[in-house]
Amino acid sequence: MPEQKRDYYEVLGVSKGASADELKKAYRKLAKQYHPDMNPGDKTAEAKFKEINEAYEVLSDPEKRSRYDQFGHAGVDPNFGAGGPGGGFGGFDMGDIDLGDLFGSFFGGGFGGGGGSRRSGPMKGENLRAAVTISFEEAASGCEKEITLTRSEPCETCKGSGCAPGTTAEICPDCHGSGTIRIQRGGGAFTFATTTQCPKCGGTGKIIHSPCKSCNGAGSVRRQRKITVKIPAGIDNGQAISLRGQGGAGKNGGPAGDLIISVTVRPHPQFKRDGTSIYLEQPVTFLQATLGAELEIPTIDGKVKWTLPEGTQPGTTFRLRGKGMPSVNGRGRGDQFVTVMVQVPRNLSREQKEALRRFGEAMGEVPKEGDESLGDEIKGFFDKRKKKK
Ligand SMILES: [Zn+2]
Ligand SMILES: [Zn+2]
Repeated sequence: MPEQKRDYYEVLGVSKGASADELKKAYRKLAKQYHPDMNPGDKTAEAKFKEINEAYEVLSDPEKRSRYDQFGHAGVDPNFGAGGPGGGFGGFDMGDIDLGDLFGSFFGGGFGGGGGSRRSGPMKGENLRAAVTISFEEAASGCEKEITLTRSEPCETCKGSGCAPGTTAEICPDCHGSGTIRIQRGGGAFTFATTTQCPKCGGTGKIIHSPCKSCNGAGSVRRQRKITVKIPAGIDNGQAISLRGQGGAGKNGGPAGDLIISVTVRPHPQFKRDGTSIYLEQPVTFLQATLGAELEIPTIDGKVKWTLPEGTQPGTTFRLRGKGMPSVNGRGRGDQFVTVMVQVPRNLSREQKEALRRFGEAMGEVPKEGDESLGDEIKGFFDKRKKKK
């Protein structure tokens, strides 16, 4: 299961448009607060410190930041598509964590999974998945694809509150707005408490007396949307793109989930690919291989001229530099490797075969007389030679 990561901006507590100075300021303040020296033995602080550093490392680098803005944590990581949808980290609040929550998180399979649903704090929306199929050429050049999906979006009438206009929700009297209640079990020295979702409010922490008519109190509505996805040049079959904030609506003011698009690249009839290298088998005639030739080699940029040297052997591979696939992270292009396939002529006419035999003779290659595998024409050839003698 991939790690559920918090939004880097959220980690540093800054807005998406934050300047470099604002980032630095936020980072310094948090780093000081969670520095291991200030919190000896505190694993949570240590983890938080690591998270802060990771976020700052990415956001302080303009190139990394822009890639993060575009593709999120996953970027175009080929492993990203493997995991299940996660609830996100949105509701995780270091301030009011209690033992019940901690245990729940550990046994629930991680902070990202089950933990979120029992809390009434801001929750990240659902991650959505979609798939697109593109051609080999589109993968080489990059492209835009439109996908249609149905997702939950904040209700426009109530702005996500779920309350009819002019009304507000009441804080749940049973859980006092936390969305969870504690149940004690056992007795004496073996008393332990577990935290479960509040049954009265269903974990939302609030009671809506007059629900919004547009969304029936849900705060969100399902809508069909067309989304244009920019697919970067160099993407490979099986890789995924993550569009931040294009997933389902967040709950209780949490951010929207992500839209994760897995990309299938259709195979090309001629080109094979491995990373940024492209491989091509180029048929040449026996004559071209023998005498040399000016060839036109197909590449993803169109045809390029190549001089085949005289006496090129079958299976020879040559390299066209910079004619491979672009690197998906924008660092240059690979090469194209062309393997020469010498074609042996088939279905020759009598005259053509005769010419080849004369060629064979000139090369000192004499067919053996009496070879049963030889056809009538060859036998005739020997007859003629006998007559000449
Ligand atoms: Zn509504
Ligand atoms: Zn409640």
